[in-house]
Amino acid sequence: MTHRIKIAAGNWKMNGKRSDLVGVAKIEVEAQFNPEIQTVLCLPSTLLDRARNLKMNTGGQDCHVASSGAHTGDISADMLADAGASFVILGHSERRTDYKEADATIHDKVIAAWKAGLTVILCIGETRSDYEAKQTLNVLRRQLTHSLPKGANTRNTVIAYEPIWAIGTGRTPTHEEIQHTHGEIRNILGAHFTQGRSFSILYGGSVSPQNAKQIFRLNDVDGGLIGGASLDAEAFSQIIRDLTASVGELA
Ligand code: PEP
Repeated sequence: MTHRIKIAAGNWKMNGKRSDLVGVAKIEVEAQFNPEIQTVLCLPSTLLDRARNLKMNTGGQDCHVASSGAHTGDISADMLADAGASFVILGHSERRTDYKEADATIHDKVIAAWKAGLTVILCIGETRSDYEAKQTLNVLRRQLTHSLPKGANTRNTVIAYEPIWAIGTGRTPTHEEIQHTHGEIRNILGAHFTQGRSFSILYGGSVSPQNAKQIFRLNDVDGGLIGGASLDAEAFSQIIRDLTASVGELA
């Protein structure tokens, strides 16, 4: 069985100016001190090229399905790679909501990202009403089977389970729920992809230095996709250390 890679991924969303890269040096040092895990910072496109010399992975937050062309305001996977990115977040709930991105579009974006050599962090997650109606697993199964193309493997794809109602709210599912859902995601992946059971599955949604350690201890959690807390270099550094500590505990 392939070794599951542990990943701490930050998502700066539409935040960050050149001056904010000063704080990233601290995260870079932390990433170098913790080589057992991969650290990724998904930056606004305007900062990627400036971050290319950082000794850690960087990523974009979306890409177009085409590699170039008449698509005003968009950015292609090729352009992200050219700016130094090695990852890209696709299917984030904010894109699904703000731009009505459908699974079929995300599927095509994943293929475009792979072609450019990027590793995709594919986000899936249910709304609060899906959760309350106990539809979480049906929603996740639909998102996974419709948006993840054939050819997904442990090198080109990472899954991020992000309950939409947990993003930026300070609320999270219980540890039992996170573990159960991650286990079921692993089962779904295992049924559809040769390496499916070995994919890295990150949890995202209000991860902070206060709760990261306990979440990372869960068996089927391979790290986190971190929004708000990744903007604070000290908070993100602590989360990186917590993930590294969990590697030792689970080994
Ligand atoms: C996110 O947007 O991917 C996210 C997980 O945000 P936050 O950590 O702020 O909830």
